[in-house]
Amino acid sequence: MKRWSMILLSLALVLPALAQENPPKQDPAKPAAQVVQAKPEAPAAKPQEAEPKPYDKVVTPEFKTQTGLFKAHTSKGKLLLEIPKNELGKDLLLVVQIKNSPSASSYPGQGVDDMIVRWELRENKVLLRAVSYSNIADPNDPIKKAVDAMNTATIMMAFAVEALAADGAPVIDATKLFTSDVNEIGIKKIVGGQNMDASRSFLDKVRVYPLNLNVEALQTFNPKPAQLPAGFPPQYVDMLPSPPSPTALVHYSFVKLPEKPMMGRLLDNRAPYFTHSHTDYSKPDHETTDVAYIARFRLEKKNPGAAKSEPVKPIVFYVDPATPKKWIPYVKKGIEAWQPAFEAAGFLKAIVAKEAPTPQEDPDWSADDARYSVVRWVPSTTANAMGPHVSDPRSGEILEADVEIYHNVQQLARDWYWVQSGPLDPRAKTLPLPDETMGDILLYIITHEVGHSLGLPHNFKASGLYTIEQIRDKNWVKKNSHVPTLMDYARFNYVAQPEDNIDPKDLIPKIGPYDNFIIHWGYAPIPSAKTPDEEKPTLNEWIKVQDKTPYLRFSTAGTRGTDPAEETEAVGDIDAVKATTLGFKNLRRVMAMLPAATLKPLENYDQFSHMYQAVWDQARLEIGHVANIIGGYDSEPKAGTAPGVRFTPLSRARQAEAIAFLNADVFKTPEWLLPVEVLRKLEPTSGQARVLALQQTALNSVLSSARLLRLQEHQAILGDQAYTAARLLADLRGGILTELAETGAKVDPYRRNLQRTYIDLLTARLAPPAAVAGAVLLPSLKDDSRGVIRAELRTIASQLSDDKLSQAGDQATKNHWADLKDQITQALEPKK
Ligand SMILES: [Zn+2]
Repeated sequence: MKRWSMILLSLALVLPALAQENPPKQDPAKPAAQVVQAKPEAPAAKPQEAEPKPYDKVVTPEFKTQTGLFKAHTSKGKLLLEIPKNELGKDLLLVVQIKNSPSASSYPGQGVDDMIVRWELRENKVLLRAVSYSNIADPNDPIKKAVDAMNTATIMMAFAVEALAADGAPVIDATKLFTSDVNEIGIKKIVGGQNMDASRSFLDKVRVYPLNLNVEALQTFNPKPAQLPAGFPPQYVDMLPSPPSPTALVHYSFVKLPEKPMMGRLLDNRAPYFTHSHTDYSKPDHETTDVAYIARFRLEKKNPGAAKSEPVKPIVFYVDPATPKKWIPYVKKGIEAWQPAFEAAGFLKAIVAKEAPTPQEDPDWSADDARYSVVRWVPSTTANAMGPHVSDPRSGEILEADVEIYHNVQQLARDWYWVQSGPLDPRAKTLPLPDETMGDILLYIITHEVGHSLGLPHNFKASGLYTIEQIRDKNWVKKNSHVPTLMDYARFNYVAQPEDNIDPKDLIPKIGPYDNFIIHWGYAPIPSAKTPDEEKPTLNEWIKVQDKTPYLRFSTAGTRGTDPAEETEAVGDIDAVKATTLGFKNLRRVMAMLPAATLKPLENYDQFSHMYQAVWDQARLEIGHVANIIGGYDSEPKAGTAPGVRFTPLSRARQAEAIAFLNADVFKTPEWLLPVEVLRKLEPTSGQARVLALQQTALNSVLSSARLLRLQEHQAILGDQAYTAARLLADLRGGILTELAETGAKVDPYRRNLQRTYIDLLTARLAPPAAVAGAVLLPSLKDDSRGVIRAELRTIASQLSDDKLSQAGDQATKNHWADLKDQITQALEPKK
């Protein structure tokens, strides 16, 4: 599925955990390594460590010197780093990004790693060490020593001290750090090569600023061996052209971390932010606790006494100079859309948009500079956007954030807007959409991505928390948006109807009540608290507002995809049947608009065809939301001693209603999706295959093993009140085999496809697992469901009596029914 946003979690935190879960496996084909007892040899004489040379013999006049965080002396592709003594042993954040690479799997600005490193002087060497903050302890706790020992910092690289400056600062030749492989930095995996070839790798650019050192290097990797397509004999490998060596431009930024880490705010899963988590060994409980600080910018009031004050340092986002001119005002508005939320948390003008300086104004300004947060415009064909950030692992403080908007996100956004809200916006009568509409859509995307940069994860429950009436109320949506947060994947309001007279500007998600709540929860200062733990009572108090106002809630942890009100790409999933019924009304209107909106004299049918497909895709999405009601649970986030349960099975009536919808609007041939003047302008078909594919998607979802097992769970919980698998199958029979109840029925070709597919699906479930293996059908279920399916097939077979067959309205129907009957008989009593 296409997504607008991918969340980049810090790989540095995720990878160690993965490594533990997947211990290296012994290759069974290889014998275990034999331990060969080598004869002890006399140790080779250690070469004399080179003593530092005089400073002026190393830093010769041909070197150009820049001064900042470090001194950088560069000449002819060589980088000498002079590290001031007071920066030795200090924590630095190392951010590595790929700026350019030939690999299709990378994109400009893609993060490789971010990690904490330190430079250490050890006799005649300077060591670069990677520091882990995954285990922490109170500095005053005796356990601190042991915990520090657990975190022994990896030595990434060692450098000889070439010279010492007059003030004692060591000078090292740091070139190899950027022109050879460093095990801890996984560049080659991303660019798709093997080892770096030092002879084809060069330093490109070195820049020093007061708080950071930036280095760019052109790195070439030896290519991976050519791969034969599956099934080709190995001797053909020589005939393959040798793959090219990938060369990438890689950007390194060493950023000075704050001398005093910001006080972290503890994570609460009811109001979550992205986090950095640690294992804390100093907590008074009898076990170690995972302490997680939320990721957020450091905001401190200029005037701490005032209820509202400007921050000492506002959050500044720069607009990439590559942004198309006409979109710049919308990008700026999208960034500053968060201002009112911060104002409610006590900060005036907390978040500010600025246009990046031109090269004339500031030749050193760079979007890659870790001091600047930038909304980048990425010239990629990917239809996506994202909002990664770099934070201080010690406190969660966000030091820098980049929002990346891919040029083609505009196309995806246009498609969705037009098929979801097109009939409600008079400006959408024809395509392309006017710039004003596209700008508002872009503004929403930017605001969402900036939200990630501020520390906010998705909240997919949000779209299921307003009532359908609220979503259709023009005053409500003007004030509260049609979804409580734009951090959901609820796109444009497809539930609203033309008669609701909603202002087209309000069809697009905007900052909602949850966004205001969550920014206040994470950013409002608690001056009385001196430690993260002391903040807890106040934070708990703030969360209580969720009890009275359910739409301020976040997704419940542990739903495992069982809550149909936690959909992505959904509006009004509090009641997906109502929402989809209304959504389908709009889709019918879209279908009627299609020719006039997309056909232009003498032009081809590309856009006409593309948008026709977009209507089908939207229909499939909305049908999926209805199917998810079957076997679903209603979930409610709670904590501690709050009364009641978190998970409640959906009622029998709601599930029966969902199947009734599918019977009426999906299994009964949806002819409105097949207007002759559209379909047969595009393809020489009756649309049978399209319809069947749509129906099959719904059936596969409704009859998935996971869902049938959940119905069994419902029965265990609710007894007779449950919507059981038997009820589900009986209800489906009513919609799929409807003609069996009629006299003289004629089953048309569309319905014959559906009925055959349905019987195929059911009979496949009776086959023993071995017979099903390899087929596209679903795995065999627990015996319990098999029994229900067998009983249902018997019922259907009994209705396909000889009498019934003789009453068929035409020969095609009679043949079809006889065939189904044979198939069921064969499945129930297979001939040996
Ligand atoms: Zn997102």
